[in-house]
Amino acid sequence: MAAGSKQYEVIVIGAGMMGSSAARHLVGLGVKTLLVGQEEPTDKARHEGVFASHYDQARITRRLDSKADWARFSSRSIARYAEIEAAGEQTFFHPVGALIAGPDKGEGAWLVERSRKVAADQGIAYEDLDAAGLARRFPFFAFPEEVVGLYETGTGGWINPRAHVTAEITAAQRGGADVLRGEVVDVEYCKGQVTVTCADGQQFNAGKVVVACGPFSKAEGLLIEPIPMTVYARTIAFLEIDEAEAERLAEMPSMIYMPPDLSYEPYMLPPVRYPDGKLYLKIGGDPVDVPLETVEEMKDWFRGPGNAEVAGFLAEKFKELMPGLDCKSVSFGSCATSFTPKGNPLIYAQSDQCVVLTAGNGAGAKCGDELGRLGALVASGQGMPAGAYLTDFKP
Ligand SMILES: Cc1cc2nc3c(=O)[nH]c(=O)nc-3n(C[C@H](O)[C@H](O)[C@H](O)COP(=O)(O)OP(=O)(O)OC[C@H]3O[C@@H](n4cnc5c(N)ncnc54)[C@H](O)[C@@H]3O)c2cc1C
Repeated sequence: MAAGSKQYEVIVIGAGMMGSSAARHLVGLGVKTLLVGQEEPTDKARHEGVFASHYDQARITRRLDSKADWARFSSRSIARYAEIEAAGEQTFFHPVGALIAGPDKGEGAWLVERSRKVAADQGIAYEDLDAAGLARRFPFFAFPEEVVGLYETGTGGWINPRAHVTAEITAAQRGGADVLRGEVVDVEYCKGQVTVTCADGQQFNAGKVVVACGPFSKAEGLLIEPIPMTVYARTIAFLEIDEAEAERLAEMPSMIYMPPDLSYEPYMLPPVRYPDGKLYLKIGGDPVDVPLETVEEMKDWFRGPGNAEVAGFLAEKFKELMPGLDCKSVSFGSCATSFTPKGNPLIYAQSDQCVVLTAGNGAGAKCGDELGRLGALVASGQGMPAGAYLTDFKP
């Protein structure tokens, strides 16, 4: 049956990390669901429509976290990766290990201290490495001597976010969801029914919508009320390496790093093969936060190449940290992250017809499945699981 001829209980708008997961969980709860989402544009520079925060080959995943509930979101998601991979016939998890590195004294010591506490409280296994241990385990890094590390194996590493989304969509479809690729331009909330209008003019009706449009959840015409979410421009630098260098760095983990001088807060990805067939290391962590105020500003930023100065800074920092690195070339790209004042994801009902599911706060890829599940629970009427989280998911 064509999607348009059905009445849905829930329409999920946005087939990204959270929306695709919400659709899979909704059909698992027996809810008649339509997932409508814009596909990744093939020509970013000329694309007029919306973009997403997950257009990449790798996102760090780890249970270890300095924030207790974020560790829970990730732990629950990681525990389901194998199930999602099987149901969606996609491999997306690469458990190469994850490292949280930072100073053990001074202002920046909070990162490892809080992460250790969360790990102890939640029984997260990791190896505590002092400076000598770090140097032995990862001889290719040149950390300042006051830096120590928490090293998570088995559950830490990286996921391919595109493959994760594909797996969730496939699994949702197999579970009974209808899926439509396209952009939603308007949502009309009438008594007893919500009408969703797509850019091509198609309309669909449901009892309720879940708005899971990442940064573009701020676009007019989707939600009932505006949300307090700031979207920041992000530049990522890619350092191309050859096969021999990738072999030398085979033990490199994904990494969150707090330099003792606190000059920036980078994250780094180990060698990953990209669709162009080449191998890249990746570094992100803009030293200055630049907000994107309007949807047009967001689109312009996504269409562009990112900030060359930021990319140069990040690439130099990466080379300082890996002095022997044989880097063939440096390229860079643009992305955007969505932050709330409380640093929490927004998962709540604005009315009995409208659920918000967004605000990854720069960390929503690894735990997209759990955030999507929570959105599905709210949309299905079951509500947040009692006692599972301390987080306030409302603005
Ligand atoms: C550079 C960078 C690095 C990151 N690194 C990490 C990391 O290492 N680990 C980690 O866990 N997280 C990371 N994140 C964060 C993570 O990628 C985001 O938190 C996550 O993608 C948010 O998921 P989402 O579903 O809210 O939004 P998105 O992934 O952006 O998905 C939203 C979807 O909605 C669609 N959409 C938007 N508007 C409409 C509309 N009107 N109609 C139809 N569809 C629409 C979009 O096309 C998109 O598919 C990073 C983010 C960036 C930018």
